[in-house]
Amino acid sequence: MIQFLDLKRINAPQQAEINEALRRVAASGWYVLGQEGEKFERDFAHYCGTKHCLGVANGLDALEIIFKAYDFEPGSEVIVPANTYIASILSVVNAGLKPVWVEPDLRTYNIDPAKIAKSISPRTKAILVVHLYGKPCEMSPIWDLARRHNLKIIEDAAQAHGAVYGGRRAGNLSDAAAFSFYPTKNLGALGDAGAITTNDDELATKVTYLRNYGSKTKYYNEYQGANSRLDELQAAVLNLKLGYLDTQNARRQAVAARYLNEIVHPDITLPDARTVAQDAWHLFVVRHPERQKLIDYLTHQGIQTAVHYPVAAHHQRAFGAFSGLSLPITEKIHKEVVSLPLNPSLTDDEVSQIIRVINRHRA
Ligand SMILES: *Cc1c(COP(=O)(O)O)cnc(C)c1O
Repeated sequence: MIQFLDLKRINAPQQAEINEALRRVAASGWYVLGQEGEKFERDFAHYCGTKHCLGVANGLDALEIIFKAYDFEPGSEVIVPANTYIASILSVVNAGLKPVWVEPDLRTYNIDPAKIAKSISPRTKAILVVHLYGKPCEMSPIWDLARRHNLKIIEDAAQAHGAVYGGRRAGNLSDAAAFSFYPTKNLGALGDAGAITTNDDELATKVTYLRNYGSKTKYYNEYQGANSRLDELQAAVLNLKLGYLDTQNARRQAVAARYLNEIVHPDITLPDARTVAQDAWHLFVVRHPERQKLIDYLTHQGIQTAVHYPVAAHHQRAFGAFSGLSLPITEKIHKEVVSLPLNPSLTDDEVSQIIRVINRHRA
């Protein structure tokens, strides 16, 4: 059986280093917001090319804290991509803001820049972009719109560690970006962790308060903050794994390039191949008009797949207030997508087997 994602296998090459990092922190007597975290913040800011990086507890908090730090009037509108993981949109709602849903481009699955303008109103304060599946959004037209309408741009880079657009890394394409280091992400901790990257000094300062009870000096609270801190065990693991991120992303790209070149099937739509070398290839997502048939066939052939995501956010029960929205492109994508195994631990033989099995499939 080729597993969709075997985290044990992915972490195995670094197991000795991970054990050493965990031991070091365990023996240090300092566990939350310390030297490991500060080193990670410096190194990840440098990696992304931003002035600041602030560690937080997870990706959802990272997004929510950004929106709260900007302190938009309650009920202000934020343009959001309709085609995303629910966390992106939850962060807007949890911050007391109103999401305005914009359909994706069916080629990239990312927010369609051409559809943003007509959703901007006098109450719009920001545009949230999500580099879904690791593919960087087409930022140029979005930068223009934001400049013209005086809007902030916030990036959900939870799936895009290391992705590049116009020579700049994800996390450095907007006013502020949110990362998740959930174990399955391209840069994954051994538990929950997240970060905010930004070049905005004022925002960075505010985040250092908001993530820690609104406090900078112990027991003096300036804001109604959260408890969303990066712990030293996760930071130590992230410090060492950051050193392997580019090599692992290069392996993801090589696998993606083979899938793009070698999978030939009349019913399967492959991902957009225009940005192969810039994508972080968090996921390799294909579409099939009868996806369950493809999933069943691959399972029967010993290849595990996944679906990202089976139900669109506006159709989730949690978002009943939005159930009346009609977002046909988003809905079509959610009906048709299948994610093939793609991760740095896949061997060439496994990739060949997956390609061979798919090309043999007949409906
Ligand atoms: C994983 C993810 C998040 C949330 O990150 P957590 O660390 O799980 O809170 C947000 N947005 C996207 C697109 C994600 O994939």
